[in-house]
Amino acid sequence: MSEKYVYNFDEGDMSMRSLLGGKGANLAEMSSMGINVPYGFTVTTEACARFYEEGEKLWDELNEEISKHIKDLEAKNEKTFGNNEDPLLVSVRSGAPISMPGMMDTILNLGLNDDAVLGLAKRTENPRFAYDSYRRFIQMFSDVAMGIDKNKFEKVLSAKKEEKGVSTDNELTEEDLKDVVEKYKVVYKEEKGEDFPQDPRDQLNKAVSAVFASWNNERAILYRKINEIDDSMGTAVNVQTMVFGNMGDSSGTGVAFSRNPATGENKLFGEYLMNAQGEDVVAGVRTPKEINTLQDMMPEVYEEFANTARTLEEHYKDMQDMEFTIQDGKLFLLQTRNGKRTAQAAVQVAVDMVNEGLIDEKEAVLRIEPKELDGLLHPTFTEKALADNEPISKGLAASPGAAVGKICFSAKEAAQRAKDGEEVILVREETSPEDLEGMISANGILTARGGMTSHAAVVARGMGKCCVAGAGELRVSEEERTVKVGDKVYGEEDVISIDGSTGAIYDTALETQPPQFKGAFGTFMEWVDKYRDMKVRTNADTPRDAAQALEFGAEGIGLCRTEHMFFKEDRIFQVRKMILASDLETREAALEKILPMQEDDFYQIYSLMKERPVTVRLLDPPLHEFLPKGEKEIADLASELNLEVAAVKERIAELSEVNPMLGFRGLRLAVIYPEIARMQARAIIQAALHCKKDGINVVPEIMIPLSSEVKELKLVKDTVVEEIEKVFEETGDKVDYLLGTMIEIPRAAITADEIAEITDFFSFGTNDLTQMTFGLSRDDAGKFLPSYIDKGILERDPFQVLDQKGVGFLVETAVKKGRDTNDKLHLGICGEHGGEPSTVKYLYNVGLDYVSCSPFRVPIAKLAAAQAAIEKESK
Ligand code: PEP
Ligand code: MG
Repeated sequence: MSEKYVYNFDEGDMSMRSLLGGKGANLAEMSSMGINVPYGFTVTTEACARFYEEGEKLWDELNEEISKHIKDLEAKNEKTFGNNEDPLLVSVRSGAPISMPGMMDTILNLGLNDDAVLGLAKRTENPRFAYDSYRRFIQMFSDVAMGIDKNKFEKVLSAKKEEKGVSTDNELTEEDLKDVVEKYKVVYKEEKGEDFPQDPRDQLNKAVSAVFASWNNERAILYRKINEIDDSMGTAVNVQTMVFGNMGDSSGTGVAFSRNPATGENKLFGEYLMNAQGEDVVAGVRTPKEINTLQDMMPEVYEEFANTARTLEEHYKDMQDMEFTIQDGKLFLLQTRNGKRTAQAAVQVAVDMVNEGLIDEKEAVLRIEPKELDGLLHPTFTEKALADNEPISKGLAASPGAAVGKICFSAKEAAQRAKDGEEVILVREETSPEDLEGMISANGILTARGGMTSHAAVVARGMGKCCVAGAGELRVSEEERTVKVGDKVYGEEDVISIDGSTGAIYDTALETQPPQFKGAFGTFMEWVDKYRDMKVRTNADTPRDAAQALEFGAEGIGLCRTEHMFFKEDRIFQVRKMILASDLETREAALEKILPMQEDDFYQIYSLMKERPVTVRLLDPPLHEFLPKGEKEIADLASELNLEVAAVKERIAELSEVNPMLGFRGLRLAVIYPEIARMQARAIIQAALHCKKDGINVVPEIMIPLSSEVKELKLVKDTVVEEIEKVFEETGDKVDYLLGTMIEIPRAAITADEIAEITDFFSFGTNDLTQMTFGLSRDDAGKFLPSYIDKGILERDPFQVLDQKGVGFLVETAVKKGRDTNDKLHLGICGEHGGEPSTVKYLYNVGLDYVSCSPFRVPIAKLAAAQAAIEKESK
């Protein structure tokens, strides 16, 4: 039996997404629900794979299969391909299993030729419409399927409009359009050296091939890379009977969401244009009307559409993004899919749907991609900044957030200037898929044209990037590199601010503030906390970070890097003095000066964290990092310390290392200079005693970094314990404390059973553990790691996403061995991976008690942890 590569819409359903693509599966599903969908068929993603195996060609059996389905379509519609009485016309659209907006291409009105256009004119009694459809088809087909620059056609059209003294396409007459068609055909012949294809089957084959080929165009590849979509998935092709939104004033076309994709408000949201075809709405050529105005214009159609939207939502149990066409007063659905939305809307919709009884709380928690919360964690402008500044203009609030930067007129430049460290805003007439890279690099995007469903708006929302679209007062000239607003002119060096939540545009740098959580977010996070059992702490070195993390819901501090406290301006002098000291006495004198400062830091952090756990790590980096490098700085330091320049240089040379990352750092410092560890232990405990007096009972967790051998750890532990006992004796008071170590050297993981015998906790330092497992310097790998990912050697950057096979094996080994000898052992992670959702889920299943991550990632880690718990339970 030969393989089946083509499915009629009534042969599929929504479960067949990987075979039929998202669009195809949903068209099939809608057909079976009895929704009015123009009939058609889908050529599968498996056909796409075979297309590449065949050397980017369609093969005979597939051609036959398509022909058979065309016959079905002709029979069903009682029309024939290429007929000069009543021709069958189709649309050809791509549809991958995962939606890729703007990445793939669409061809409408396929089947038109010199005969069929007569047929269309006759049947519709509307020759103007027929020639308008034909010229659109030639243009779209030539661009999408044949790679001819669309500007060549735009020029012909503009010349015609100029010749006739009109400003919009709609004002051109039948005769004008006939002439345009002839001229378009000339352009085609000039470009391709052959006549425009007249055989509809030939047109269709070219179109199907073009859709398959577009799976591997640069934009599609880039989009997949950013969104981590599998390259081997392929796209399906949907061939669907055309319905016409450009048949006159009782026809139209639009796109709409069942709820507001920016805020989540439960109200139809969208745009439409009367007497227009699909691409007119998204291209931003004419400004579309808001969907609610359709209620007055065509109340019955509006009612039917609103009901359909509700039915689809109830069926898919999610917000829908729909495309529709009204042909002569009759409504057709051309597409539905789960709508892309901002993080704010995603949370609002999930919470509302629980309240409406559509989904349950757990489902709501599973609905939000943890990474998406990033969109909620974006800054906004301060109230004062907003009160003090008047916007120069306003556009649509397309994607929330606040962005400040210098104006940049091209995507390429935006990418370059951002690479050079500039903050930029991409300002464009409108964006197109080619602008993707620049959109990624810019702080925000501002366009003069296009609505809420324009390319810029859709893509920005997907990325969680601030965007103001359709700011109609702006006159953007890429050539002159200016943007005019009224009589003001701005250029590349001018800074602007845009507010993606209100659409306001300012010609100055406004002050921003960190995100403020409101509305449904609180309810959502309550559910996250309800279903989560792994704790989420934060990495914070200062009271400021700690306060921020508390606002994000941190449940403690998993890593306080004390070296950052050493760098503070007022104490670096004493730190340097301590390092340069040639005898113990001088060193201890300097440490004595540092002690009260450290103690105060800890006191402040504990007071802020109340009784939440705080893990303080003893000094980790190599000492030479605290010393200056330049001649002048060395000379200044020598004179400050009253030392010879030569003596300072000698000490720097003594401390310098070939491989500092593998050198004299971590607990090795404490082995050689126990007085440093003593001072820190004393500061940690004295601060806790101080808090105790204030009525706050802290149980400090003292963390010793970089151990690899139990004996060195034992030595440092003894030093610390001895000092603590001394403090207890001196003060006559006591606090509980825990003593643990970081597992960040493979040998520590392998000998974890020995290490666990003398420790209360392990915290996995997966930054170093990754570095040392791969033998890959974390400071230098950035230069070549991206090539490893491009070449497919590594799937992800192992410094961002934990390598489960290698580094994970060590973590699992350490967890098991550690718990074998110490069943009370407390386990956490404080490497960068602690805020990465897939790693958090993995570590939950490994059995860690907590993860610790940067303040902004706390909600993300919490959500990942809750999802891991729900997923485990449902297994
Ligand atoms: C680690 O190595 O994972 C860690 C948290 O420590 P640092 O990044 O300070 O080396
Ligand atoms: Mg480390």
